[in-house]
Amino acid sequence: MRDVSAVNDVQIVVLSGPSGSGKSTIVRELLLKSPIKLTLSVSATTRPRRQGEVDGRDYYFLSQEEFQKRLARGDFLECAEVHSTGNWYGTLKSELDRAKADGTWALLEIDVQGAKTILEQFPNAISIFLWTSDFEKRLRDRATETEEVIQKRVATAKSELEHASMYAYKVLNDKLPVAVQEIIEILQQHQRQAADRPIETSATT
Ligand code: ADP
Ligand code: 5GP
Repeated sequence: MRDVSAVNDVQIVVLSGPSGSGKSTIVRELLLKSPIKLTLSVSATTRPRRQGEVDGRDYYFLSQEEFQKRLARGDFLECAEVHSTGNWYGTLKSELDRAKADGTWALLEIDVQGAKTILEQFPNAISIFLWTSDFEKRLRDRATETEEVIQKRVATAKSELEHASMYAYKVLNDKLPVAVQEIIEILQQHQRQAADRPIETSATT
C-alpha cells in the first residue's frame, strides 16, 4: 500500500457528490480562495466535449481507443465508467506529478468508484462528499444535458448517496460560501494535524 500524505509527497483531496451538487462550482471557488494551494487534477474522459469546454483544461478528451491504450500502459491511478453511459473517466498519474511540481495539494473531482480506488491506495487522502437538497432541479436549470442523461444522472445520484459513508466528511452545499468555508476549514485542520505530527526518524542501533 502506498501513501502520499508523508512529508515531501502530495496530499490528495477527493471531492465527490451527485451530479448537480455543485462540485465544479465549489472547485472553482476553492482554486481561488483556499489558502492551501490546490492543483485540480484534469481527468481524462471519453465523453463528448460540452460547449465551452477546453481540452487539457476541463478534461483530456480521448477516444475510446486512446483511453484503452493509456489504461493498458498503466497511465491511470484510477478509472471508471460513470453514469452507465459507456463513457470512461480516469485520473492520470501524471496529474499528481504536476501537483507535486507546483508544491500544491492535488484536488481530485471524481465519482464514488474512483474515490473507493483512491482511498484504498491512499488511506490518508482527505475525502469529501458534497450533497444538496435540490440536485435534480439544479441539473435541469443548468440545462447542459438531455432529459435521458438527466434521468441517468438522477439514478446514479441515488446510488452515490448510499456510498457517502465511505467519505470522512459530508458537506452540504445549499449556501455556496458556507460550503466553501467548511471545506477550507477541513483542509486547514488536516494541515495543522500534519504539522503537529512528530517527524519520523529512522531507528539507529
Ligand atoms: P456538478 O459539478 O456537481 O454537476 P455544478 O457545479 O455544475 O454541479 O452545479 C450545478 C448547478 O447548480 C450550476 O448551475 C451551479 O451554478 C448551481 N449551484 C452550485 N452550487 C450552488 C448553490 N450553493 N446554490 C445554488 N446554486 C448552486
Ligand atoms: P461530467 O461528465 O459532468 O463532467 O462528470 C461526470 C462525473 O464524472 C462526475 O461525477 C465526476 O465526479 C466524475 N469524474 C470526473 N473525472 C473523473 C475521474 O477522473 N475518475 C472518476 N472515477 N470519475 C470522474
